[in-house]
Amino acid sequence: MNFRPTHLRTLASHVAEIWDDDVVDVLSSYVAIGCLSPDFDPSWADNGEIGRAARLLSAWAASRPLPGCAVEVVEREGLTPVIIADVPATPGAGTRLVTLLYGHLDKQPPLGSWREGLDAFVAVREGDRLYGRGTADDGYSIFAAIGALEALAVTGTPHGRCVVLIESSEESGSPHLGPYLDEVKARIPEPGPGLVICLDSGCATYDRLWNTISLRGSLVVTLSVEVLSEGVHSGMAGGVVPSSFRLLRQLISRIEDETTGEILVPECRAEPPARYRAAAETMAAELGDAAVGEFPTVPSLVLSGQTAADRLLRATWMPSLAVIGIDGVPSVSDGGNVLRPFTTAKLSLRLPPPLDPDRAGEAVVRTLSTDPPQGARVKVDVTSAARGFDAPAQAEWLARATDEASETLFGRRAGAMSEGGTIPFLAELASRFEDAQFLITGVLGPESNAHGPNEMLDLVTARRLTAAVAHVLASAP
Ligand SMILES: [Zn+2]
Repeated sequence: MNFRPTHLRTLASHVAEIWDDDVVDVLSSYVAIGCLSPDFDPSWADNGEIGRAARLLSAWAASRPLPGCAVEVVEREGLTPVIIADVPATPGAGTRLVTLLYGHLDKQPPLGSWREGLDAFVAVREGDRLYGRGTADDGYSIFAAIGALEALAVTGTPHGRCVVLIESSEESGSPHLGPYLDEVKARIPEPGPGLVICLDSGCATYDRLWNTISLRGSLVVTLSVEVLSEGVHSGMAGGVVPSSFRLLRQLISRIEDETTGEILVPECRAEPPARYRAAAETMAAELGDAAVGEFPTVPSLVLSGQTAADRLLRATWMPSLAVIGIDGVPSVSDGGNVLRPFTTAKLSLRLPPPLDPDRAGEAVVRTLSTDPPQGARVKVDVTSAARGFDAPAQAEWLARATDEASETLFGRRAGAMSEGGTIPFLAELASRFEDAQFLITGVLGPESNAHGPNEMLDLVTARRLTAAVAHVLASAP
């Protein structure tokens, strides 16, 4: 298909109409619903808030002029519901690849106090910003997906079959998604979707279309070192009975270089491929230190990493360790002269995107539990292991379509970014749809404050992103 920028601009003007006439109102009604994710609302099934949001959004989707579109709320026993909107291929486009578009409707809690005039559950529009919990994460997603398809329909632009899946357990780590993905997979004949568009990611800036190409995996491990059956006077035992903290420190140094923070376990390490290095160099050259993000560091603190690109790779690809909890240690004000019986630490490890977290976990357990120092009683447990995400290299048509959309709608070429955190549903999608291409994008950019107070959707970006999705769908072979 020859690229016609004027046609893309026509799509964009229809998208703008849809957003202005309709979407902002419905999205504002959605903000008022307290559809917190199951982890934050154990009574979600009884209070029905998630169901209410699903009905509001699915009714909007069903009301749109999309020929042959079937919208349903699917609810399996004990699981939060999903919205599935199945839009058939346009006449003559039945052999084009099938696209799965993903978003979610469950929300984070308000978290902290919102600034004067704002409220988590009251939508407030200030210019091109729409404030309220769930606007950007991820209420906008169904409007972007359906709005893109509507713009294609009203302009008579051909496209393949599209299945929109909006789940409602994402903010809890997507524990309810698996069975629904199996159902979607069963509805799409082999070879399954050729393209997966995820509308729940970040954008480093608002001046281009961003594609997330990788996320790190994670491993949570508890490590316990026991030396006594009860505490004893440190003036008597100190120097003879080893401190459980010292032995714990010694053990942690087996997996992490205590000076540099380098992770030493081979099964937790992987070298970044050339394309990730190149993406990090490009992003660092453009954004400098802002590429990594801003942290509330004390003024004298020296960050790890030599250059911005180096820091970006350290934050998004390399493994790292944080001690996120400690038991067996009293608070400073309660501490007495006691040689304590045990110390237990909760360790959080971030893993390079392609690594198998179970294999990494086994290696960490082996390293920490073999040959305990001074014969102490050491216990090691992996309490969670999540796989990262390493997107397949982009097909030429997709790279071209995202660049065309980004240049025409945003004014700059599309960008590739990596994230240091973990989004469990991506590994779920990647494991089921191995042959699919991925476009992982979103509106979570500067000041969007997902999960924090003052969450905000940048409406200009939402409209551009919607038009970009339309162009990608129209360009899919
Ligand atoms: Zn989200």
